[in-house]
Amino acid sequence: MTLMNTAGLSEEQRMMQEGVLDLLAKHLPWDQIRKLDDARGFPHEAYNALAEAGYLGIFYPEELGGMGGSYKDIAVFLETLGYYYTGIAQAVTTTAIYAGMHVAKFGSDELKKSIIPKIISGHAKLALAMSEPGTGSDVAGLKTTAIRDGDDLILNGNKVWITCAHVADYLVVIAKTDPTAARHSGISTILVDTKAPGVTIKPLSMLGRRTSHANEIFFDNVRVPATNLIGGEGQAWKNIMKCLGLERMGLAAISSGHCFKITEYATDYAKQRIQFEQPISKFQVIQHKLVDMLIMSETARQSVYRVADLLDAGHPAVKETSIAKIVCTDNNFRCADIGLQVLGGAGYSMEYDMQMFFRDSRVGPIGGGSNEIQKNVLAKLMDL
Ligand SMILES: Cc1cc2nc3c(=O)[nH]c(=O)nc-3n(C[C@H](O)[C@H](O)[C@H](O)COP(=O)(O)OP(=O)(O)OC[C@H]3O[C@@H](n4cnc5c(N)ncnc54)[C@H](O)[C@@H]3O)c2cc1C
Repeated sequence: MTLMNTAGLSEEQRMMQEGVLDLLAKHLPWDQIRKLDDARGFPHEAYNALAEAGYLGIFYPEELGGMGGSYKDIAVFLETLGYYYTGIAQAVTTTAIYAGMHVAKFGSDELKKSIIPKIISGHAKLALAMSEPGTGSDVAGLKTTAIRDGDDLILNGNKVWITCAHVADYLVVIAKTDPTAARHSGISTILVDTKAPGVTIKPLSMLGRRTSHANEIFFDNVRVPATNLIGGEGQAWKNIMKCLGLERMGLAAISSGHCFKITEYATDYAKQRIQFEQPISKFQVIQHKLVDMLIMSETARQSVYRVADLLDAGHPAVKETSIAKIVCTDNNFRCADIGLQVLGGAGYSMEYDMQMFFRDSRVGPIGGGSNEIQKNVLAKLMDL
């Protein structure tokens, strides 16, 4: 049963959705996802298949070898990945948007030409290393330093919760190049080879998203050529702000797709589970739970598409992006929580998929600027 209909999508977007779902069914069958989740393994085969089929080009302009997809195309693509499996969606988004977009938007011509084609072909994976043990929401308080030494920068510090760093070829690191500068100044973005001497990456054990899992990173006198600065020295803060719209829309789109998946799963279960000699889907209280889940899925989707339409029209959509991020990630976890209740004991069992949906959806309100931070953004816009 498919609740995520294609009404309002263009013919190309419908074909893309179908093509992506077919490809994933072939290269990432469901029993493999459960095995990878248990083993905390990365979905390499599906990732490479998506790249080989050219889908990773959707994020980048034609002059960099991409397809120049619109924001709506990207939203539909990520929603489709999130619907199939959030782990593959997170893996793609981390390389292509969180980290790759910094290179594509602000990198030198040399960096763009050497890195973006490798991202598109699947030959390079990237991770964004921003958060630190002492600074999560308060990004500007970061302590990692990158100090000039001739033509190089010497990187020292510690990052934490960095998605996909364990499989990354490059890290996009946010560091203080001028430790004496005021809070939002003297911060730079630097491309760092994960194989450089002095880089240590330690996988962390997390509740969910185990296949694209989080890592701790240590930089111990890592020497990086200054030509790896992305967007010039001291420019990181303003550039990070310019990437937020796409990042948050991406997170929201993945969550929207996941809402539909969870709703379908719970609906299918409720139609088959017999109690008191009838399917539990015949009890009005269960029907209302499933209807609430569908409403949350559709509301999530509408908020993402609204952001995509505004961004495509050249509007910054700051308010709408924060709202979509909150609506989609909160709805995602609420769908999982209600869905788990619909399944009863089976929902709480590790034998069924619902527990994975529950664990995977919990991170949405925390990552990508927590939902409390989004509300701070909205309060500021309301002049409160
Ligand atoms: C699975 C996972 C993957 C991640 N991937 C990455 C990644 O790839 N790269 C990366 O750089 N980071 C990543 N992160 C880090 C993520 O961005 C941070 O966890 C997030 O920004 C919150 O920071 P924190 O965990 O330090 O919480 P804190 O900042 O300590 O916040 C704790 C609580 O206080 C609230 N809070 C803090 N400040 C305020 C305020 N001013 N007003 C109201 N409430 C406030 C927060 O909303 C939260 O509820 C990841 C995190 C997780 C869990």
